[in-house]
Amino acid sequence: MSNNKLQSASEHVLAPLPYAENALEPVISARTISFHYGKHHKGYVDNLNKLIAGTELAELTLEKIITATAGKADKTAIFNNAAQAWNHTFYWSSLSPMGGGEPPVVFKQKIEAVFGTLDVCKQELVTAATTQFGSGWAWLVLDGDKLKVVKTGNADSPLTKGMKPLLTIDVWEHAYYLDYQNRRADYVNAVLDKLINWNFAAENLG
Ligand code: FE
Repeated sequence: MSNNKLQSASEHVLAPLPYAENALEPVISARTISFHYGKHHKGYVDNLNKLIAGTELAELTLEKIITATAGKADKTAIFNNAAQAWNHTFYWSSLSPMGGGEPPVVFKQKIEAVFGTLDVCKQELVTAATTQFGSGWAWLVLDGDKLKVVKTGNADSPLTKGMKPLLTIDVWEHAYYLDYQNRRADYVNAVLDKLINWNFAAENLG
């Protein structure tokens, strides 16, 4: 019994969605969110818990598991599930039913100082998202003291490169295929115009 207690104390939990499953319609359907959150994201968390149960990794935070297993050939499955668990929680917060539009003023000025205009920044995110071959993620990050757009493949995370993620867009097919089929660019443009949570990015910038 005490073993079970110890195990459950260190288990990672699927963070609640920050909005209702239908809150992002019509850009992202409740059906997509239901599978994406309820099956894919939950699956990563459940798999991670199974993979680390009884190991020393079970005592670490999710971020520490990600950095401790990155690039280690014998820890690939743990890294993939841990990073995907983290990436998805971050993605849900990168979207908002009240999103799109303009970033907070000070944050917008920082974006303009680096990219010239907000539209250029958005276009770089579209390019990163649509040129990521296969599955992955497009990110706005802080790299040192510089805002940057980067892309990562599969479960990879800017965290392992010492960058601070500000927002992300999931470009795995499971994120858009039910709603947009092969039209990834349409999904990314709609997310940037209607859902992207600039307030969350500004908070992460600090
Ligand atoms: Fe996903």
